[in-house]
Amino acid sequence: MLDADFFRRWMTATAASVDREAENLTALDSPIGDADHGSNLQRGFAAVTAALEKEQPQTPGAVLILAGRQLISTVGGASGPLYGTLLRRTGKALGDAAEVGAEQFAEALRTGVDAVMALGGAAPGDATMLDALVPAVEALGDGFAAAATAAREGAVATTPMQARKGRASYLGERSIGHQDPGATSSALLVQALVEASDE
Ligand code: ADP
Ligand code: MG
Ligand code: MG
Repeated sequence: MLDADFFRRWMTATAASVDREAENLTALDSPIGDADHGSNLQRGFAAVTAALEKEQPQTPGAVLILAGRQLISTVGGASGPLYGTLLRRTGKALGDAAEVGAEQFAEALRTGVDAVMALGGAAPGDATMLDALVPAVEALGDGFAAAATAAREGAVATTPMQARKGRASYLGERSIGHQDPGATSSALLVQALVEASDE
């Protein structure tokens, strides 16, 4: 069973890996965007960890709803509302249970990913975060490690794609040949599930 502490660890592990990878995420956002993806997420996840510390939410749902709200209010770019919606909607789907099972979490995350698609109008194949998130959700039934591998492979698979949503889409065919920064950070988010369960 996954409790509020697990979800807190998920968020702090994500914050730590976003810190580690910030330069790389910003470098990926440089040729096809505005070179802010790393700093956007660093600011956002720093706010998430600070809010979790201060408010001490006591259920899995409350942890993710608070985290999502922080991302929406502190990240200016497209990724803030999208990641914020992912976490908030996943948290809402978990309800007020003190602990949730792996299957319930997988179902809730699917609800969150669907909400990202509804908000941004993107689908897999458009070279966005969804190219990592959708395969991850599909693999989640096989465990966190399988989901992390699927997300990482999904991020790499954006390189030959033409971006159809977000800033990168302004480049048209010139967006081909670049790995999507949001798909790359989504792979970090999913990998952080493995780290949270190892601790
Ligand atoms: P901005 O583009 O506003 O500077 P970021 O650089 O923080 O925001 O985030 C860019 C990432 O957001 C992209 O790499 C892509 O993965 C994701 N993204 C942008 N638009 C969409 C969308 N409509 N649907 C899903 N993901 C999107
Ligand atoms: Mg950007
Ligand atoms: Mg920006």
